[in-house]
Amino acid sequence: MPIDLEAYHLIREACNKNDAQLVAVSKTKPVELIQELFDAGQRDFGENYVQELVSKHGLLSPDIRWHFIGHLQSNKVKLIAPFVYLIHGIDSLRLLEEVNRQAAKLSKKIKCLLQVHIAAEDTKFGMDETELSACLQQVRERPEMFAHVEISGLMGMASFSDDESVVRKEFRTLKELSLRYPAGPILSMGMSGDYRLALEEGSNMLRIGSMLFGTR
Ligand SMILES: *Cc1c(COP(=O)(O)O)cnc(C)c1O
Repeated sequence: MPIDLEAYHLIREACNKNDAQLVAVSKTKPVELIQELFDAGQRDFGENYVQELVSKHGLLSPDIRWHFIGHLQSNKVKLIAPFVYLIHGIDSLRLLEEVNRQAAKLSKKIKCLLQVHIAAEDTKFGMDETELSACLQQVRERPEMFAHVEISGLMGMASFSDDESVVRKEFRTLKELSLRYPAGPILSMGMSGDYRLALEEGSNMLRIGSMLFGTR
């Protein structure tokens, strides 16, 4: 199935209206489809699996900004560190330290978002408020330990629920946390099923997969 370009332009328009960025989530999708969306003007793409990201990065334009949006294991950071544009799923201080270590080896700085657990389901990764606060405090108190990471904001995933009020409340919680614990300008929230709510609640970065690429 080709890219749904109509959906693409619809989402782009919603993003432009809200000063939000769009990350096209291409996990499990072939490089031909990514190329098609690239040709339509899209530059930010998100992947969940390290090996898949590494191989797609090798096959596609160096102008793509690759976002890692999945759960990242510490021992795999070094594989994506040379080229990743933004890591969305930092869910522990230990992982942040490892990103810093790998970025230091490359004499670069890697942008990171701290993932916050906002959904009711406990299958989703992320820090709770206490961990978020502690993590930011560590970074503030020991800047020399984190010289090679740039904390750029927060990321979260809402519950998979048909109940809009539940989803809205979770997004609102993340927005409030972003104000209480300023971590950077980016607030990454909103997927195919809930992006309108996310924008209404203050998201400025959407991660959209199935609406563009079809179901997985
Ligand atoms: C897969 C995924 C998305 C995209 O989900 P869709 O419902 O296909 O838009 C967004 N964020 C994360 C973290 C994902 O794993």
